[in-house]
Amino acid sequence: MSRVGTPPQAFFDMLAAQHIELEPGDAERLGTHLDMLLDANERFNLTAIREPAEAWVRHAADSLSLVPFVAEAGAACIVDVGTGGGFPGIPLAIAMPHVQVMLVDSVGKKVRFLQEVVDALGLTNATVRQARAEEVAEYKGGLRESFDAVVCRAVGNLATLIELSLPLVKVDGLLLAIKGEKAQEEIVAAERALHELRGELVTTERTPTGTIVAIRKTAKTVRLYPREQGLAARKPLGFKSEEEA
Ligand code: SAH
Repeated sequence: MSRVGTPPQAFFDMLAAQHIELEPGDAERLGTHLDMLLDANERFNLTAIREPAEAWVRHAADSLSLVPFVAEAGAACIVDVGTGGGFPGIPLAIAMPHVQVMLVDSVGKKVRFLQEVVDALGLTNATVRQARAEEVAEYKGGLRESFDAVVCRAVGNLATLIELSLPLVKVDGLLLAIKGEKAQEEIVAAERALHELRGELVTTERTPTGTIVAIRKTAKTVRLYPREQGLAARKPLGFKSEEEA
């Protein structure tokens, strides 16, 4: 039995505002993901959003707001860093079957849930990996400088995200982050991270659900980054540590 039912009109209006078109069956697949999310959420915490209409807008439509950016970049291979319950990666994999999507999260039970979703939907263009972004970016055995774009939502401030994600993208590749009201402040605070990781702000664009920040990697990432596990989040580049403040 479907818990979330069919999408509310607001969902379709938001997609139309960005000229995003779904293929037959896509809305059903998006609904299956949301159903599985709300089911699993009764066993362990995946989302605070439990109301179906809100889930369609704040999870599915918000994730799909990246479609035009991924398409414009011509990205064939993307990674969703800190995907949690699969946002934005699963909706993107559903709506963009020709794009290879790797879903990365450090938490085992989330990754196991995502594998179930990928299997249930038969998403042959999606793979799931339990790892920290720092491990994925390792030189040895890692996938450093392998992706056309990193997508992400709700994974720390922009400075942290830049250090975790830009090592994963090829030179000229993009970080596409879904941000909120504080996007501009975060960009200002990320100046040092942008400089160190050779990132260049391409655009910030309001969408019906948030603000997309697009950053281009202009040169290879120096070996130093990302720093050892956890530092990008605990001591973001350019932020004063508590001792110094
Ligand atoms: N992107 C999802 C989840 C956001 S919560 C959404 O918008 O709904 C942040 C997620 O990032 C959590 O699931 C957490 O486990 C994961 N995460 C945080 N730091 C990470 C890191 N360094 N590497 C991989 N995953 C990380």
